[in-house]
Amino acid sequence: MNAPATETMKTDVVLIGAGIMSATLGTLLKEVAPETTIAVFEQLDTVAKESSHELNNAGTGHAALCELNYTAEQADGSINIQRAIDINEKFKLSVQFWSYLVSKGLIDKPEEFIQQLPHMSFVQGEKDVAFLKKRYEAMVQHPLFKNMTYSEDREVLKQWFPLMMENRDETTPIAATHVPTGTDVNFGALTRKLFAHLDNLGVKTHLNQTVKSFIRMTDGGWAITILDKNTGKTRTHHAKFVFIGAGGGSLHLLQKTGIPESHHVGGFPVSGIFLQCKNPEVAERHFAKVYGKAALGAPPMSVPHLDTRFVNGQRTLLFGPFAGFSPKFLKHGSVMDLPSSVRPHNLTTVLAAGAKNLDLTRYLIEQVKLSKEQRMNELRQFYPDAKSEDWELIEAGQRVQIIKDTPKERGVLQFGTEVISAADGSVAALLGASPGASTSVQAMLVVLQKCFGNKIPDLEARLQAMIPSLGKNLAEHLDLLDHIQTEVRETLGLKNMW
Ligand SMILES: Cc1cc2nc3c(=O)[nH]c(=O)nc-3n(C[C@H](O)[C@H](O)[C@H](O)COP(=O)(O)OP(=O)(O)OC[C@H]3O[C@@H](n4cnc5c(N)ncnc54)[C@H](O)[C@@H]3O)c2cc1C
Repeated sequence: MNAPATETMKTDVVLIGAGIMSATLGTLLKEVAPETTIAVFEQLDTVAKESSHELNNAGTGHAALCELNYTAEQADGSINIQRAIDINEKFKLSVQFWSYLVSKGLIDKPEEFIQQLPHMSFVQGEKDVAFLKKRYEAMVQHPLFKNMTYSEDREVLKQWFPLMMENRDETTPIAATHVPTGTDVNFGALTRKLFAHLDNLGVKTHLNQTVKSFIRMTDGGWAITILDKNTGKTRTHHAKFVFIGAGGGSLHLLQKTGIPESHHVGGFPVSGIFLQCKNPEVAERHFAKVYGKAALGAPPMSVPHLDTRFVNGQRTLLFGPFAGFSPKFLKHGSVMDLPSSVRPHNLTTVLAAGAKNLDLTRYLIEQVKLSKEQRMNELRQFYPDAKSEDWELIEAGQRVQIIKDTPKERGVLQFGTEVISAADGSVAALLGASPGASTSVQAMLVVLQKCFGNKIPDLEARLQAMIPSLGKNLAEHLDLLDHIQTEVRETLGLKNMW
């Protein structure tokens, strides 16, 4: 995939970073505007080595089937499920696009990147059991969650997650919900497939190339300065449109564009650690993703979960991610990432967020200090019989949360993803990390609509031909939901989707 530094220095589009976001945007662009010339620049020696790598993220196809943080309890005690509905609809956009690519033969072997398995939520103690029951009652009435079941019956729970019920204390009330149609997605494998497909279309991915800076051209395009790590030399590449899909590195690059939209935005890094099971006999006895409830003070996306994962054709078991604090913005980043992201224009934004989130910072620093045995004790909340010798710690990716000023408040720490683009649509960046890769298609559709809406003829119709539910609320189009389900089930080899 590497190309000599002398190759063409001009393309219509430059994608920075070889993760799932750039892979998805490049693939979408080549479908709706095949004549577009694209170059990809990645600073590492291979694609999908940062957050999109299979062992750097949790691989949950986030469809809001088990993540308790997507359904907030309101002051009046009711449960708001709107965020869960939104995320479910967004995940369905991803699944439709992946299914389209497989049906056209553009990527193959879907079993290498998507597997079906139950998604469950598990709680302990009277208060959380009451919460889960109320949440279930709110969700099951909605067509997107109608196959959710709830149980407090230990015999039922033994069938759902036998490993978790062995030697469990009988006195604490427990409950779970179960949705059979969840997924484990190997985002690393998917990213590699998409880049291989792009390579076939002539889109070159230039590895070991670090994007350093940008100059705005008089024709509205960008001159991009790139350091070739192989030779130590820099070169310039021109593009009409730049996508900054650099994961944790996106904020720094966005700031370097100097566009007004990059001001008053900061980043707050959260690191991750998994416990991975090394005993295949244990891994074979659990088949589900089981999400718990976040501890008090924990960031919402760091809810512990015990997950069956499919990595390199092997079934494995991961627990975590444990959140932690590190000033790096990328796993392969620098400890100067956080301090160097603070600029005069975002100083008050970042300071305000820091002052408001001292508890979170304290929590993350304490998490970093946890010993392996303390982490094992957290795992034992899920799997009481877990033995330390069966598990080892592995470092996950970094997630950089967005800090922004809102019309009402300075320095708000956000836990979603957001596309920030220039008013003229010549550059866009993806910031944030959750729900992340699962909703990569929706995020990249936003980039297309914002930056190419008036440049690609019939863009919306072309996109809808690939992704039929685009622009529609599936809960109000149940016949379309059924139609998509049949297609997706067959192409992706899943038993059922929803
Ligand atoms: C612990 C953890 C758990 C997660 N769990 C889930 C989950 O269960 N489900 C889910 O959907 N999502 C999950 N996510 C989020 C998901 O992994 C990310 O949203 C997604 O992988 C981001 O993809 P990306 O392409 O934006 O970034 P990345 O995959 O990080 O790729 C960015 C690339 O840009 C490159 N780069 C950076 N700076 C430069 C530069 N200056 N020049 C050239 N290249 C550069 C990097 O080297 C990297 O390869 C999780 C993330 C973490 C960390």
